[in-house]
Amino acid sequence: MEKSLQLEIVTPDKVVLSEQVDYVGAPGYEGEFGVLPNHIPFLSALAIGSLYYKANGKTHYAFVSGGFAEVSDNKVTILAESAERAEDIDIERARKAQERAKERLNVQRDKVDATRAEAALQRALARLRVRDAA
Ligand code: ATP
Repeated sequence: MEKSLQLEIVTPDKVVLSEQVDYVGAPGYEGEFGVLPNHIPFLSALAIGSLYYKANGKTHYAFVSGGFAEVSDNKVTILAESAERAEDIDIERARKAQERAKERLNVQRDKVDATRAEAALQRALARLRVRDAA
């Protein structure tokens, strides 16, 4: 029986994180799920939201913009379009993205792709929540 598992978060650009951890909590599309060492193989779509993991008695947070999670052989692989560790999130940028998305939804709703603006707003809000939690 293993006592830890590997967490890897990857985006098309880079490996955001690759660490041995004790627990992963992830924003599954149908609700949060948790992964402990020796978990059965598992695949899930992810929602836009915050992922957390525990390592050496500390809890760490990261933002994930949806994507997929795969659990296999004591490894959790997160594949996302974009993701950042909490400490790498630029708060000003997220606030500006939030304002832009709100403006598009409230003022120019008939001229813009509302689904896209809604997703941008969800990403900005989730980034700010991750920073608050960290
Ligand atoms: P923005 O409008 O500010 O670009 P976005 O939600 O459209 O925000 P994404 O498409 O999710 O951005 O990501 C594009 C790239 O920018 C990714 O590499 C992502 O990690 C990075 N990124 C976006 N917002 C932030 C932020 N607030 N802090 C740090 N990195 C960010």
